[in-house]
Amino acid sequence: MGRNGIPVQRIAPEERVAKAVEYGAQIHPQYTQEFSSGVAVTRHRVPWVLGCYGIWADKEAQYATAAAMDGRTLMAGEHISYLPARQEGAILSALDAVTRLHQHVVSA
Ligand SMILES: Cc1cc2nc3c(=O)[nH]c(=O)nc-3n(C[C@H](O)[C@H](O)[C@H](O)COP(=O)(O)OP(=O)(O)OC[C@H]3O[C@@H](n4cnc5c(N)ncnc54)[C@H](O)[C@@H]3O)c2cc1C
Repeated sequence: MGRNGIPVQRIAPEERVAKAVEYGAQIHPQYTQEFSSGVAVTRHRVPWVLGCYGIWADKEAQYATAAAMDGRTLMAGEHISYLPARQEGAILSALDAVTRLHQHVVSA
């Protein structure tokens, strides 16, 4: 969670929904008229999630090792990407892993 997210995570869910409507209405003024109900969940407080994306201590130093094929194991996902916490990172990582796996098989 970034620094800007912390105050938003601390408030009650119903206040968070109200903030979302308030901020969204700055871009789409009709929000306040069209909004009917909402729900807010703080990800890092969900016991089996405890967050929402991988965080690296030193990605430059560790990425190549983490992404390397190790016997029959090859990892892919947002956590093995330079775009963590994004579907784009997960997809790019999957494409990279499948490409390398294919190259490994055809060159064996
Ligand atoms: C609330 C929320 C909102 C988000 N909003 C956005 C957004 O607006 N835009 C965006 O780009 N990204 C968003 N993301 C991030 C995005 O969803 C993730 O980065 C992406 O889904 C990660 O894809 P993945 O394939 O790496 O992992 P996942 O989608 O987490 O897939 C991992 C899969 O592995 C399975 N699995 C785990 N352990 C095992 C096991 N032992 N055996 C078999 N299967 C297992 C899991 O069940 C899961 O299906 C959001 C994430 C969250 C949580």
